[in-house]
Amino acid sequence: MKLILASNNPGKLKEMRELLGNADVELLSQRDAGCDFSVEETGETFEENAYLKAAAITAATGEAAVADDSGLMVRALSGAPGVHSARFTGSHEDSDEARNAYLLQKLEGETDRRAKFVSCICCTFPDGTVLRTRGECTGSIALSPRGEHGFGYDPLFLSDDYPGRTMGELTAAEKNAVSHRSRAIAEFVMALARRKGETGC
Ligand code: IMP
Repeated sequence: MKLILASNNPGKLKEMRELLGNADVELLSQRDAGCDFSVEETGETFEENAYLKAAAITAATGEAAVADDSGLMVRALSGAPGVHSARFTGSHEDSDEARNAYLLQKLEGETDRRAKFVSCICCTFPDGTVLRTRGECTGSIALSPRGEHGFGYDPLFLSDDYPGRTMGELTAAEKNAVSHRSRAIAEFVMALARRKGETGC
């Protein structure tokens, strides 16, 4: 089946394509589908924002769309940056490096560095059906960035699944084996299969 990814983030598109590799899904980028707009993420939760993004693409195209709203939650910062992960410094335009430097500054002197990544997937269909799934990955924030892989906060995120290594130091396959997004997508693939069994499409 054809699905449009409600995102212009190339890191996310690459990971989603890898994660959906074995499912019978052709994932188009928002740009490929002719949707040259970005949706304002006005929701207070990852779930709400994922819905807003997917629903806007389905409304504009009449096609099924999938969105991932994801982010980092840091315990010592009461869950921040959370839904503001992409604009933690105050601007979407800042680089990942700037956001990572800002996070380190916020955590200066903090000994409780526990954190988690969260991914909420929402898929909207033209018939009004909505599928939602969620995945989490726990870890902690390193004292300095390391690694060239992945995107976003990966160079600062020490995953509990790979002691001593940041997600930026993991290969794509290693990250995909444990990430919040892969967990949410695994659930989503099962939900899609159930829907196909029920509706035939
Ligand atoms: P949004 O879901 O497009 O609102 O943005 C999520 C933001 O959270 C990204 O821009 C990254 O800064 C961060 N983020 C989400 N998932 C990951 C990940 O897998 N690795 C690193 N950073 C992530």
